[in-house]
Amino acid sequence: MAEYHHKVLIIGSGPAGYTAAIYTARAGLKPLLISGDEIGGQLTLSAEIENYSGFFPSTSSTELMETMHRQAEKFGVVFINDTIVEVDFHHHPFECVSANHNVFYAQSIIIATGSSAQWLNTPDEKKFRGHGLSVCATCDGFFYRNKDVAVIGGGNAAVEEAIYLTQFARSITLIHRRDKLRADKILQDKLSANSKINFKYNCVVEEILGQDEPTSLTGLKLKNIKTDKNEILNIDGAFVAIGHIPNTAVFRHQLELDNKGYIKTLPDSCATSVKGIFAAGDVKDPLFRQAIIAAGSGAQAAIEAGRFLNQ
Ligand SMILES: Cc1cc2nc3c(=O)[nH]c(=O)nc-3n(C[C@H](O)[C@H](O)[C@H](O)COP(=O)(O)OP(=O)(O)OC[C@H]3O[C@@H](n4cnc5c(N)ncnc54)[C@H](O)[C@@H]3O)c2cc1C
Repeated sequence: MAEYHHKVLIIGSGPAGYTAAIYTARAGLKPLLISGDEIGGQLTLSAEIENYSGFFPSTSSTELMETMHRQAEKFGVVFINDTIVEVDFHHHPFECVSANHNVFYAQSIIIATGSSAQWLNTPDEKKFRGHGLSVCATCDGFFYRNKDVAVIGGGNAAVEEAIYLTQFARSITLIHRRDKLRADKILQDKLSANSKINFKYNCVVEEILGQDEPTSLTGLKLKNIKTDKNEILNIDGAFVAIGHIPNTAVFRHQLELDNKGYIKTLPDSCATSVKGIFAAGDVKDPLFRQAIIAAGSGAQAAIEAGRFLNQ
């Protein structure tokens, strides 16, 4: 157990956290960054990234995150591999306690803890993540030009993903466990009007089917929960759209959160309901969830933290 005192504490090592670290370090604020369990953040779950400007034609997600780490290190950011489990934002300096019983005191905090996509938790699912199984149509839809894909889910996110995929895919099968969608009517109407979309209602995914070397998804084994019958759906890719959970449990009762648990920030700002605490990236963004947007938000939070400390 150790005690740390820093002007700025950054929680999270995804694109938002690393970018906030680079900016605050270059501003002379000597930040300390706590990485969490997922060093490099969500992007490390993906193999390749094609839409991060400046990395053409593409880069490995691991390499991108390692480059951000090295860049932050060069400017003197202190890194600690630990997870924050308790916070007290009612007193200044703010206090955070970690899983390893370290205590961190900071004048300002940038929260960049991201969100976690919900997966299906079927056997073998992990093997196909990034090899035909995705949680992000904006990120991976482009790889499925003229291919057959499925979207799993029935809410607004699933319908939006399916509509987005009609630009690329030959066919999209929407798989939903209920007998009707939960999405807004206007989205459902748009969906029904598109001839590329097929529906499988009352169905759940029992198994992801595919091959090894190279690992690739080739289909889904579905079960109709009304008839108990199984069916094989042959497809090239599947998009899981059953929701994201923002990593904010530890900040509940300390900061204002929206009804889905995302941290509320002021308009055009990363400032939260507590002065001196800023939120950046997916932890405050239920809408876009893109690495480059998270990085930009990290930069903004860093600038706002600097202004708060210098006022
Ligand atoms: C499979 C997949 C593929 C994707 N592909 C793309 C793509 O091609 N292009 C694109 O732009 N975006 C893509 N995304 C989205 C992108 O990864 C996210 O938008 C981006 O990573 C969000 O960055 P962030 O820094 O806000 O949070 P995250 O990357 O989620 O990082 C959160 C960090 O917080 C840490 N943390 C969480 N809780 C705690 C705690 N209590 N204490 C300390 N640390 C904590 C975690 O360890 C992690 O380091 C993809 C996402 C997934 C899941």
